[in-house]
Amino acid sequence: MQKARGEQIAQAVDNLLGEALGQLYVKKYFTENARKRALDLVNNLQQAFATRITRLDWMSDSTKQKAKEKLFAITKKIGYPDKWRDYTKVHIERSKYFENVVSAANNNYQHQLQKLGKPVDRSEWFTTPSTVTAYYNPAANEIVFPAAILQPPYFDEAADDALNYGGIGMVIGHEMTHAFDDQGAQFDKDGNVTNWWTKDDFTRFKAKTQQVVDLYNTFTVLDSLHVKGALTLGENTADIGGLAIAYDAFKLTPQGHDTTTFDGFTPGQRFCISTARIWRVKMKDAFMRYWINNNPHSPPMWRVNGPLMNLPYFYLEFHIQAGDKMYLGEQDRIKIW
Ligand SMILES: [Zn+2]
Repeated sequence: MQKARGEQIAQAVDNLLGEALGQLYVKKYFTENARKRALDLVNNLQQAFATRITRLDWMSDSTKQKAKEKLFAITKKIGYPDKWRDYTKVHIERSKYFENVVSAANNNYQHQLQKLGKPVDRSEWFTTPSTVTAYYNPAANEIVFPAAILQPPYFDEAADDALNYGGIGMVIGHEMTHAFDDQGAQFDKDGNVTNWWTKDDFTRFKAKTQQVVDLYNTFTVLDSLHVKGALTLGENTADIGGLAIAYDAFKLTPQGHDTTTFDGFTPGQRFCISTARIWRVKMKDAFMRYWINNNPHSPPMWRVNGPLMNLPYFYLEFHIQAGDKMYLGEQDRIKIW
């Protein structure tokens, strides 16, 4: 279906003049203080992940060492680029759409040409501040969170840490674990293709992930249709690990040690509710059927229930007992990261 003209034009501006639009977007929706808070959050997650790596019972000390070096070498791109691109050569006139596009496209072409023969600029952004996305890029060992995903319900400058760690914290933890999965293991801390795992560690990692496949295969989505455990393995492993890392990181904040309730919920409960809140969607059965067969991510509901069922604190926070719908026996709960 063709998008409305306004949407098409907004998209064109984002594609061609992304960092000019980004400056306006950030000015309106992403304060310096929000950026600082998001960075604190990412730093706490890094710290929490390092501690979890140290405590792993299945990874050798030499691989742990390399994993932590890689973890602390991750470049963090939060909100917007440190230096903005220059668009002074682009000529824009309100009445000349076609000429504007040509001028901006030419500028982008020159921008690419200028890189020839020069060292890679690692500070360059390949998405725009106004794009809702989050990703780990193995070839640069970087995580990227544009200002547009650092918004409610994922992140709210005015909200407590419980909401932010349960929301964007889980997403950030998810992206961080991608640096260490079957894909990420093929790249070293500088983004070069080198496998830094020992063979035994990798075998143990693979064996552990089989538990994830088996558990997600049991999740029923539509009548007889189940989540495809093998197809969604990498993403489910990242979800389970990401949530656990985010919870540990939340514990590093003052509120993580507090018991003051807010709207009748403890901080830990608010953390879990926030996770559930970021994955709220509505979709038709036909689309869900398509999703199940093609998308490497589990359907949103299982991106919430799957990781929570494996988070020990979830049982404590909500007093989950044997027989409850989301209960898993202690020996069945998965802990990879
Ligand atoms: Zn992912």
